[in-house]
Amino acid sequence: MNTATDIDLEQLPVTDLKGVGKRKAEQLTRLGICNLQDLLFHLPLHYQDRTRVTAVRDLRHGMSVVVEVEVESAEIRYGRRRSLLCRTNDAGAVLWLRFFHFSNAQRLSLATGSRLRCFGEVRDGPFGPEMIHPEYSSLDGQQAAPVEEHLTPVYPATEGLQQGSLRSLVEQALEIAITAGVREWLPEELLAGARFPALLDALIYLHRPPPDASVRQLEAGMHPAQRRLQFEELLAHHLSLRMLGKRGRERSAPRLAGGDALLRTFLAALPFQLTTAQRRVVDEIAADVSLGRPMMRLVQGDVGSGKTVVAAAAVLMAVQSGCQAAVMAPTELLAEQHLKSFRHWLDPLGLETVWLASRSKGAQRRETLEALAAGTASVVVGTHALFQDDVNFAALGLAIIDEQHRFGVHQRLALREKGGSADRVPHQLIMTATPIPRTLEMTAYADLDCSVIDELPPGRTPVTTVALPDSRREEVMARVEEAITAGRQAYWVCTLIEESEVLQCENAEATAELLAEQLSRARVGLVHGRMKAADKERAMAAFKAGETDLLVATTVIEVGVDVPNASLMIIENAERLGLAQLHQLRGRVGRGASQSHCVLMYHPPLSRSARTRIAAMRETSDGFEIARRDLALRGPGEVLGTRQTGLAQYRIADLVRDEPLFPKVQEAAERILTAHPDRIEPLVRRWLGDNTRYAEV
Ligand code: ADP
Ligand code: MG
Repeated sequence: MNTATDIDLEQLPVTDLKGVGKRKAEQLTRLGICNLQDLLFHLPLHYQDRTRVTAVRDLRHGMSVVVEVEVESAEIRYGRRRSLLCRTNDAGAVLWLRFFHFSNAQRLSLATGSRLRCFGEVRDGPFGPEMIHPEYSSLDGQQAAPVEEHLTPVYPATEGLQQGSLRSLVEQALEIAITAGVREWLPEELLAGARFPALLDALIYLHRPPPDASVRQLEAGMHPAQRRLQFEELLAHHLSLRMLGKRGRERSAPRLAGGDALLRTFLAALPFQLTTAQRRVVDEIAADVSLGRPMMRLVQGDVGSGKTVVAAAAVLMAVQSGCQAAVMAPTELLAEQHLKSFRHWLDPLGLETVWLASRSKGAQRRETLEALAAGTASVVVGTHALFQDDVNFAALGLAIIDEQHRFGVHQRLALREKGGSADRVPHQLIMTATPIPRTLEMTAYADLDCSVIDELPPGRTPVTTVALPDSRREEVMARVEEAITAGRQAYWVCTLIEESEVLQCENAEATAELLAEQLSRARVGLVHGRMKAADKERAMAAFKAGETDLLVATTVIEVGVDVPNASLMIIENAERLGLAQLHQLRGRVGRGASQSHCVLMYHPPLSRSARTRIAAMRETSDGFEIARRDLALRGPGEVLGTRQTGLAQYRIADLVRDEPLFPKVQEAAERILTAHPDRIEPLVRRWLGDNTRYAEV
């Protein structure tokens, strides 16, 4: 059933086609097209309907249509921009054609009385419906060319390669495919149940939709032929990551099975018991690291779910077995806080925790590096400075990355290589506070095993959230005053739309001064990104110790900061922040037993998307729901930072729209991994090409 002949389209280079020389082949390569299969799977982004002629009287703004008209006049206008304006007529209805670039010959050819067929997008112009730069041809003298038989596909193109040329190449490839067949990689047993159109039929439909095809359905990506291919594309991406994970796990890693004496001492000293969810995740980690194969595990837990303790437990497993552990955080502030927690927990156990950030210099840095290389330091906490070339470990057994969203796939791989040798790598634990929607988990993190801390420590009360225009700042200050008088603490987060960190920090400084003046009873602290590490730490420590009541800060406190007595969070210009960021900031409160509040101050008028974000914050505090909405609002590229993460672009799949396909994709992946492993590689190559983004592993 797979092939009509033995021809494999992947084996046929594009240069086999008519009209493809060296130059065109190079242009095609830029689109990732090297062979006929690539061409066939180069799918249209849009469609135009040139299969029928529309009467001018039926035109509506925004339509892209073919019309047939007679020229009434054509004259040059000198308005803001010189243009050629041509008045045309079809059965008494007027359509204007407007050209900003035109030759004299062109002007003369648009003679009064000549008849034209035009294709273009209609818009409401100053005098009525108009088309700007329509494609047109003369209907005079010759037999009118027939209109198109199919909807016209519009392909992703590149400079120098026109749509017409792409269309004719795809047509040639399609003709060959019709005789040669296309390899079907999806398992028969799966296809039988799925009621998908056959692969070749789907491709023919999408490259040549019949005139009665719905452009609307096609543009929405909802036609069964598209679903068929979206499914296959999602599957290919998912499989590529699964293979990445599999290859990673085939390497060896130190067996961390030295017993749990340290862990037990640590847990016994904690002032609380682990939640059931924390205990489960600690057990999952312990099972992973005892095997001699590298753990590659992602721990998801909403803000405040207690990931740090879990990280510490993992660190102790490494240390107990004579290995070192590295803990990396995305910001210095967060890393400093981890350092404090780890020292607080590990010093009593007689373990040395050292510090490494970009600002570590001179003797401190040298000592840290020596301690790590000699193995006298068991644990290092730091920022991405841990990646630097001169950092060497005596025996790195575990790398923990906190708040993975700030780092990408590549960094995650880099840290693993750092402590590894050709045949031995450290275990890896990745923690994220932004719960990852299922779709992203399967597409961006499918190489990892996942654990979820789906429970908050007991005694937390949900944060109530209100939104207020900044004209009501006085009221907000009154609330702050009230909270402080009642012995509680508050955060005041300043945001500025400017990219400049300097301005952000100056703004926070000014706000802190102003608030200190206006709230005479409040002891005001300040934290921002440009303060010296020691000053930041001092300000944080003072706030934590209750020596200051109000902490004015930039969004540096977004992640990790933990002060349970703080129960009020004010966020200025909340409309400028993304949903995930707002959720993280809000997560700074609601950590103690008292009722906490979050005030989102905004500057009206709110844009539609800002209104949606603020509404979402008021409606839910569930991190997974927030993450889902964030994904729907921003798309996966933005949520993950596509460039950073190396998350590949999809051709026709869309992680938000195609979420319903995922359970089946997963099922198909399991099926292929177990029953048809030989199909993985060709399937991945079909959709990801020779894209080597994961090849460095
Ligand atoms: P996050 O998951 O956001 O990183 P943290 O690890 O900072 O959360 O923990 C938040 C707070 O909850 C900390 O003060 C921590 O000591 C506390 N905590 C963690 N686990 C528990 C628990 N099982 N019971 C009570 N408090 C806990
Ligand atoms: Mg944390």
